[in-house]
Amino acid sequence: MRPLLSLAVALLVAATSVADEPKLKALLVDGQNNHNWKATTPLLKKCLEDCGRFTVEVATSPEKGTAGFRPKFADFGVVVLNYNGEEWPAETKADFLAFVRGGGGVVVVHAADNAFAKWPEYNELIGVGGWGGRTEKDGPYLRQRDGKVFRDESAGRGGSHGKQHEFVLEHTDPEHPITKGLPASWKHTQDELYDRLRGPAKNLTVLAFAQSDKATGGSGEKEPMLMVIDYGKGRVFHTTLGHDVKSIACVGFQTTLQRGSEWAATGKVTLPVPKAFPTADKSLAAE
Ligand code: ZN
Repeated sequence: MRPLLSLAVALLVAATSVADEPKLKALLVDGQNNHNWKATTPLLKKCLEDCGRFTVEVATSPEKGTAGFRPKFADFGVVVLNYNGEEWPAETKADFLAFVRGGGGVVVVHAADNAFAKWPEYNELIGVGGWGGRTEKDGPYLRQRDGKVFRDESAGRGGSHGKQHEFVLEHTDPEHPITKGLPASWKHTQDELYDRLRGPAKNLTVLAFAQSDKATGGSGEKEPMLMVIDYGKGRVFHTTLGHDVKSIACVGFQTTLQRGSEWAATGKVTLPVPKAFPTADKSLAAE
């Protein structure tokens, strides 16, 4: 083959292999949240779009009530929840569960684990959650003690956090597709460190813990920060991080959101590990 022609063929092959990777369809759900979802949704959307792996649509519920709110979950590979509000109509809840049980992916972001405290299937799907009257009746606290996951059955409220601060995430599984190749510990930008989350915690793996210090108003325990849950044929990635714009700017948050969303949608991660990443000593915000 003549050199120019072979170059043209090589370029065509390279272009084809990128184009052949179909984008995953993500649906971001918001509209009611005790957090500033109007500021955070565009950032979550941009984060997913910027990695080149997703197209993102947003489904916004009414600000009051949820009558008529029925996104077509089945049209998407992954549903990203930035929602903490009133219960959805029965048919919407049924659609959502059918989507996940049938193999759909779900990503639970921060206060989305405060939602739907009285919906048992949702509590199972998120693994653990906080507030909304959650107590020991809903399941144990999940802690790490002596390097092992400890299911703490003691009585008490579910959900709390101390003063916002930077804190270090410690990965538990270097081989999981979401965390593979990332530093084993890294400092997150200023955020709420959720503690005392509790729930059924079935089919759940904690991918990262963080020490919740009493000095900052925390529990004094290592608390779960990143989790994956199997629910039916579906996969759930649960990040407790992402309170506000500052927390979402963290390269560690963004990377795990992108990789967690890809994993939830497909069971695999093809996204590369970014060159710049926070270290155990230094947080890193995206430009
Ligand atoms: Zn928050």
